[in-house]
Order: sequence, then structure tokens, then C-alpha cells
Amino acid sequence: MSRVLVLNSGSSSVKYRLFDGTETVAKGLVERIGESGGEVADHRAALQGIMDEIDLTGLAAAGHRVVHGGAEFTGPTVITDEVVARVEALVPLAPLHNPAALTGIEVARKLLPDVPQVAVFDTAFHATIPPEGVTWAISRELAERWQIRRYGFHGTSHAYVSRRTAQVLGRDPAQTNVITLHLGNGASACAVEGGRSVATSMGMSPLPGLVMGTRSGDIDPTVIFHLHRVAGLPLDEIETSLTRHGGLQGMAGVNDLRAVLDLRAAGDPDATLAFDVYCRRIREYVGSYLAVLGRVDAIAFTAGVGENSAAVRAASLSGLEPLGIVIDPERNERRDEVISPPGARIPVCVIPTDEELEIADQSRTALSLDR
Ligand code: ADP
Repeated sequence: MSRVLVLNSGSSSVKYRLFDGTETVAKGLVERIGESGGEVADHRAALQGIMDEIDLTGLAAAGHRVVHGGAEFTGPTVITDEVVARVEALVPLAPLHNPAALTGIEVARKLLPDVPQVAVFDTAFHATIPPEGVTWAISRELAERWQIRRYGFHGTSHAYVSRRTAQVLGRDPAQTNVITLHLGNGASACAVEGGRSVATSMGMSPLPGLVMGTRSGDIDPTVIFHLHRVAGLPLDEIETSLTRHGGLQGMAGVNDLRAVLDLRAAGDPDATLAFDVYCRRIREYVGSYLAVLGRVDAIAFTAGVGENSAAVRAASLSGLEPLGIVIDPERNERRDEVISPPGARIPVCVIPTDEELEIADQSRTALSLDR
């Protein structure tokens, strides 16, 4: 049994979880790092506090969540100076996400010099998407020069949930095709063919695809030109309006789906439309991935919304009965693992995600450690 510390460093927070095998022996969250009145001054102090708190005896590895691995990181990677430099070189692709992970890595390497460290990338699971699924129809020269392509995110979650879905259904993951719907604050869909990602809804950044708490998801890029040229908004303001003030927040004035559901129940028309847009987008992606996969063995909902909102699950898949996709209302309300009726052509599942457990597992794999 090896102990693995999983670290998820955000710009102002560090989440940690210590595993002994698959068991969690400590976990926590340090928030508001560097903010006035916050708990700690910087990431170093945050990580030092974590290390002081937990029992590091027998620690075999530290696994770091890194959002963007570009095209080059296609699996969990043992961290060296060279790996750090390559992740640094990817910052222009993920200016909002990668710097925090790099800070976490730098500090953890200093504090735990004898513990091997592994980077687990959100993008890596999507490295198996074929070229036609990651290429946008723009000039090849521009795309290559500026690394413009789909990368996809939430990979550890889609990997974990698609595998668990197959196991729940008593199937071999390598022979099972699953559409996974990760619906949290961020949200993405993934088509998984025999354990390998073949399509996903996020792109070069986590902005496109499904409607999210504060991100718009798919829009016509002309909107950006229009807001710049006609409305006169500066580019960074447009970016903020799509990434932080879009999605449910933009349409309904609240980013939390529970608040949208409350407003909708009270008859609020904006919240009602926001809910409908949110669910319709999911349905559009399910339809698209049915076409990508041809044969689908299961659809799985996961993350905060996917695991908890029977209303979203029901509305997202309504009208798909002719395709063999049916939800049993009672099972859906109870939140069974399988919420479709027995014998359904395409079983629908609710599978709690566990990205930290997957990061711990992948860190062990990278270091050839036993669980
Ligand atoms: P993150 O992407 O930050 O990890 P989560 O996966 O925890 O987020 O999902 C957070 C979202 O889940 C919340 O914003 C909320 O809208 C939604 N959520 C959580 N519980 C419920 C619930 N009981 N019903 C509906 N939505 C819920």
C-alpha cells in the first residue's frame, strides 16, 4: 500500500487529499490564498500548513492536477526540471489555469525533495481523439504556428467515470462505449470508445461546449467581433463576459443550478429559459456523440449537477426514447446507479466522479507503484 498526496492548486486555493491505497486518510482545502483577511499569505505557506497537518510517513508520491498539457503530455508524467519548463511553455495556452499548478509543483518539490512528483493533466485523456475531432477548419499554417486545436479538459473525470460506468454495468471497459456528461461548475461531454476519448466538447480552453455556471459554452465566434467592433468592448472585457459572466449566470443572474431551479419553480422566465438552454445543449451533444460512436452502451451523468439534479437528467434526455434512451422517473429521483428501466437499449447511469482518486491512481501508474 503506498501513500499518495494529491494536490490541486488553483489561483487562490489548494485542495489536497492523502490516500493510503484507495482510502482517504486526510483531506482539506485552503482558500483565499493571498487575499486580505485570507487564511495564508501564499502557496508556500498554504502547502507548508498542509504538510504540517498531515502524516507524511511512507509518502510514495505527490500527484499534481495540471489543467493544460498541450499536445505533448498524453499521460501522467513524472516531474523533472525539464517537465516543469515544458509546462511553463504551455502557459500562453492556459494563462488562467497553469500558473497556479506550476506554483504548487514548485513549492511541493521544495518541501518534499525526496518524494517523486507526478503531473496529471486534464487534457491527457483526450490525446486519443483522432485528428478530425481536434482540428478546426482554419488555415493550417495559423493552427500549427499558434497551437490552435481542440485539447479538451476534465479528462481524469471522463476516464474515471467511463470506466466505472462499464464496471457498474458488468462490462469490460475496453469493450464499452460511453457518453459521459460531467456537469459541475464547469461542464463537458465526452464520447468514450472502449476506454479511449474520441470526442469532447471543450476546446483549446474550457470555454466551449456545454452551458456552464459562468461560461457561455458554444457561441458563434462572430459574437466576439461584434462586441468588439460594434459595441466597442475591449477584448479582455469580452473574455470576462464569456468566461465569468456567461452561462447560467449570464442568462439567469445566478451561477448555481440550485438557484436556477428555485427561480424557475417560482416562475422566473429568465431562469426557465436558462434551464431549457442548458438541457437542450446537453441533448445536442448526446445526439452528436451517438453519431460519432455509432454504438453507445451507456450514458453517464456525473459531477455536482449530473449527480444531484434529477430535473436536469430528465430534461436533457427527454424525447430520445425512439433512440432507446429512457429514464425511469422513480430511479431518477432515488438517484440509483442505473436510472433507465431494466432492459433499456442504452442504460443511463449516475456515477459520482472522483478526480483525486484517479490522479492518485495515475500517479502510481506513472511511478510503477503498487496500489
Ligand atoms: P466543480 O466543477 O467546482 O467541482 P461541482 O461538481 O461540485 O463543481 O458542481 C457544482 C454545481 O453542482 C453547483 O454549482 C450546483 O449548481 C450543482 N449542484 C450541487 N448540488 C446540487 C443539487 N442538489 N441539485 C442541483 N444542482 C446541484
